Amino acid sequence: MTQLPQSVPTGLYIGGQWRDATGGATFAVENPATGEVLAQVADASPADGMAALDAAAAAQEEWARTAPRVRGELLRAGFEAVTARAEEFAAVMTLEMGKPLAESRGEVAYGAEFLRWFSEEAVRIYGRYSAAPDGVNRLLVSKRPVGPSLLITPWNFPLAMATRKVAPAMAAGCTVVVKPAALTPLTTLLFAKVMEEVGVPAGVINVIPTTHSGATTGPLFNDPRLRKVSFTGSTEVGRVLLKQAAEGVLRTSMELGGNAPFLVFGDADLDAAVDGAYNAKLRNGGQACTAANRIYVHSSIAEPFAEKLAARVGNVKVGPGIEADTQLGPVIDEDALTRIGGLVNDALASGGRLLTGGKRMDGKGYFFEPTVLVNVPRDARVLTEEIFGPVVPIATFDSEDEAIALANGSEYGLISYVYTKDLKRALRMSERIETGMLAVNSGVISNPAAPFGGVKQSGLGREGGEEGIEEYLETVYVGIGNPYA
Ligand code: NAD
Repeated sequence: MTQLPQSVPTGLYIGGQWRDATGGATFAVENPATGEVLAQVADASPADGMAALDAAAAAQEEWARTAPRVRGELLRAGFEAVTARAEEFAAVMTLEMGKPLAESRGEVAYGAEFLRWFSEEAVRIYGRYSAAPDGVNRLLVSKRPVGPSLLITPWNFPLAMATRKVAPAMAAGCTVVVKPAALTPLTTLLFAKVMEEVGVPAGVINVIPTTHSGATTGPLFNDPRLRKVSFTGSTEVGRVLLKQAAEGVLRTSMELGGNAPFLVFGDADLDAAVDGAYNAKLRNGGQACTAANRIYVHSSIAEPFAEKLAARVGNVKVGPGIEADTQLGPVIDEDALTRIGGLVNDALASGGRLLTGGKRMDGKGYFFEPTVLVNVPRDARVLTEEIFGPVVPIATFDSEDEAIALANGSEYGLISYVYTKDLKRALRMSERIETGMLAVNSGVISNPAAPFGGVKQSGLGREGGEEGIEEYLETVYVGIGNPYA
């Protein structure tokens, strides 16, 4: 399938209606593997943004009162429907985002799982009842939905980043306005259509793709009906949104950038570490907040590690993700190619050495050679900035303390990877590395049943696990006078 399936909607979805943007504006969505235009999508204006909030606010009370079991069963139906249409979702995702089809299928399974997980969590929203310590009054604590929520998602995981927010919000009883990234809105629109088809009531999910994000969502922050903003994207934009959210003292969840360290100790299983580094780096073409960004290897095994990894990375089949044998697709756009090339050139100029790759590829589409760099100085930009591309910079360390200091020497703290056979060392890492998530002897640990999120400038709050639904719940305390008086 190289054409977009006809089933994919291209309008705004507001209050249960598919419609054009006010004024009829549209924008083009490109296939990054070819540069060709896939579709023209309605470009929401600030008035459309406000109409989406109107719809979400109008549906809020009834949705909050809808039985948790009913909310859960609608999510479960969403899970079944997305799963049944996995091939269609995978094709749309590969076409608009570029990742290989096998990875898109993986994301459909992962993204759908948030719907199933939160279908089960919808009926497990608990409170408590207790006697006050002095035995006089009674304390009743209950949870209720936060209210209409604005969900802003990035382009790199077009389905999973939407379901990871929409599912817990719906399970908690919140209605939502989703603003997908303009680079990849089609998967999210198809998801909204599937949820409409399984019977999610009008106004519960609203979707407003737009090329002017700030202007379209900005006014919502000043509207008292909006109660929450959940954002996944760069730390830079997260800071802007936190400032805007301060005005209305909104609840916020922020899943921001990462600069993941990948530590390989001298006692690690070398082949397993190479395999883990490959997966932690090349999945999604390196365009993941969880991508291993800085590979630090104990100097005793640095050379064989780098050689094995370079041999593997250098043999990757690069091409359009829609072709069955492709292992690495394009990066998202021309800007990404320029930025990644700049990071590699900076590393080479400061003493780094190329083992494989190193430059953009000729021809159409936005392809960058899978690249491995060694001898990278610790202050090179490729080790301090989020790469978001298929580039592996390798540096060395000599002691555990040094490895920890390197890992912690970043303003980010999303995920860290450790390869070691020493259980005590792994536990020390879990206590000393400043990170929201730690992967031990594994290159991929994201799981809907686990709390995903970061510390430091990687964000606030958690998605998934039993924590995920809490982001969309308020705690209400009811004090009750002495029942015996
Ligand atoms: P981005 O910050 O440029 O954009 C993210 C979203 O915010 C997009 O929908 C964009 O249109 C929107 N946006 C931008 N400016 C806005 C504004 N002023 N008001 C409202 N919305 C605005 O990020 P991106 O390039 O789409 O994604 C890559 C970044 O996302 C990386 O930094 C990556 O680490 C991060 N990310 C984090 C996680 C996580 O869970 N921590 C997951 C995936 C991606």
